[in-house]
Amino acid sequence: MAYILPPAPIPTVAVDGTDDRFAVRRIFCVGRNYAAHAREMGQDPDRDPPFFFTKPADAVIDAGQPVPYPPETENFQYEAELVVAIGTGGREIAVENSLAHVWGYAIGNDLTRRDLQLASREKGRPWDWGKAFDHSAVIGPLHSVSQVGHLSAGAIRLTVNGEVKQSGDLNELIWSVPEVISIISRSMDLRPGDLIMTGTPAGVGPMVPGDVCAVEIDGLGRIEFPIGPRA
Ligand code: MN
Repeated sequence: MAYILPPAPIPTVAVDGTDDRFAVRRIFCVGRNYAAHAREMGQDPDRDPPFFFTKPADAVIDAGQPVPYPPETENFQYEAELVVAIGTGGREIAVENSLAHVWGYAIGNDLTRRDLQLASREKGRPWDWGKAFDHSAVIGPLHSVSQVGHLSAGAIRLTVNGEVKQSGDLNELIWSVPEVISIISRSMDLRPGDLIMTGTPAGVGPMVPGDVCAVEIDGLGRIEFPIGPRA
């Protein structure tokens, strides 16, 4: 059997302390998962079941690279997030067993064309054009659980050009990492290589070409990337 066209390269993210790469299968993202961010988006924070959207695996871009300013937006926004990397797949995973499926953690940025996302939301349409565009998932180096353990608390902070824009704590997640893994696995089989972006704290806002965005999470260090010119 031959391929008609050469297969696309496998999307990967960096792994801290090695040149080896982590192959990415899918990217699940949790909508509103910090109460203060839910409020700033005009929604009630609550314990209604969480909702999800996805990004294509090849939306990943390493931290440190310039992120092209995407087309068709006038409101390109950052969202600092803890990223969970699944190492062991499973279905109907119990909350108390969830963490055994985690390979590691990274700092991420769920880049968003907010104007397109809000227009979709108002019309009850899919969020893809606002969330799932090229280079929309900045993912820093993964840190293995054997290196850093599991993260359930600790500061998450984002700056643009050195000015603090988001400052939260992982212990403010409405749905915890073990709960999110368990809930996704009721609807889909989780597989090795799946990434989960766990939601962003309050303070989201726009960036423009030339800005430098940095994100820190306690235990995972810091990532930084510049916004490039318009694509
Ligand atoms: Mn997000």
